[in-house]
Amino acid sequence: MQLTCSFCGRSKGEVGLLISGIDAHICEDCIEQGNEIVLSEGAGKSQKNTKQVLDLKKPKDIKALLDEYVIGQDNAKKTLSVAVYNHYKRLNYDSAKGGVELDKSNVLLIGETGTGKTLLAKTLARSLDVPFCIADATVLTEAGYVGEDVESIISRLYQAADYNVEATERGIIYIDEIDKIARKSDNPSITRDVSGEGVQQGLLKILEGTVANVAPQGGRKHPDQKMIQIDTKNILFICGGAFDGIEKIISRRMQANSLGFKALSSDVEFTEDMYLQYAIPSDVKQFGLIPEIIGRIPILTALQPLDAVTLKAILLKPKNALIRQYIALFELEGIELVISDEVIDYIVEKAIEFKLGARGLRSVCEAILSDYMFEAPSDKSIKEIKIGLHEAQKVIERLRLKAA
Ligand code: ADP
Repeated sequence: MQLTCSFCGRSKGEVGLLISGIDAHICEDCIEQGNEIVLSEGAGKSQKNTKQVLDLKKPKDIKALLDEYVIGQDNAKKTLSVAVYNHYKRLNYDSAKGGVELDKSNVLLIGETGTGKTLLAKTLARSLDVPFCIADATVLTEAGYVGEDVESIISRLYQAADYNVEATERGIIYIDEIDKIARKSDNPSITRDVSGEGVQQGLLKILEGTVANVAPQGGRKHPDQKMIQIDTKNILFICGGAFDGIEKIISRRMQANSLGFKALSSDVEFTEDMYLQYAIPSDVKQFGLIPEIIGRIPILTALQPLDAVTLKAILLKPKNALIRQYIALFELEGIELVISDEVIDYIVEKAIEFKLGARGLRSVCEAILSDYMFEAPSDKSIKEIKIGLHEAQKVIERLRLKAA
């Protein structure tokens, strides 16, 4: 009997390869075509999902999602939730009907290292199920120089979106260390930092909305390659930085306007950290970001330094809290890990001493548990590990001696 493809009807002789099923056959051309149909249907579905999710989530819902992973930072969470809600509302809004052009609401997060800026942006993107990538402003250079040019950020988002242009154009990009490309002084004629400003100009373009050219498979561009064009108009940018020293700029401004300062300082004792929450765009300008960039990141919010109570909560509370992660890691070996409350307090105390925010928690935990993580997998007799204060102190003191 002559074998034919059950889909296109061509005979075995006419096609390259014919694969047999229980009582049907398929040729390689039909497999390829089928695959394309599946892919395009899949892409359509995921876009529909994204749209539905975005339609559903109100600022309060978004904040509740952030609360699951990020401890404290209520102001930043509220501001971000509203900004993101408005951003996607703007995307779904048919401007032809309303006639009002809604501006994009890129966000600037100011806060010390390890206070949760990246975590907030990452959690946000995950909860909304939109493509997300992180870029570091310090490795960016002007186009044509060694290093990554600004368009490479878009290329990264395109990769994160599985090479789906439409999804990329609705994604979120977190630009870290934006403060590091600041001009060194508010007065351009004194210490002009040309490379910093050049990068700012490049960034400005993608923040404003431009059509960026990216290589089809991401990666480096080749001169004779056909480029994929991505419009950055609807990409939401969240920028973050520590802005070391901005407190002084804020406090100077507030003290100059002594009326406002007195009203604020009458019932609370003011420490330098506390000025951060009163940051306004002119402070960021004085720090050295060019006004055009500040204009494109109109929403500004500060993250608070983490105190002991918050650090302890970070260790224990979030869905993927560090201590939960270590317990799960040991559980996989069939070992119960018990860490006493006083050890938890000790870890917090040391993290504060190291001044690395929540990032310090991880290094302290790693140090305390590293010997156990080395030994336990080879010793089947261990069923339980109890960490006491004395042992934890010994490990950290030993490390301190090594470092000294
Ligand atoms: P930043 O971007 O501000 O320097 P990250 O967001 O990268 O800091 O935080 C570093 C790590 O510290 C995160 O992976 C997270 O585990 C933890 N962390 C920081 N702040 C918080 C917070 N407010 N709630 C929960 N975890 C936090």
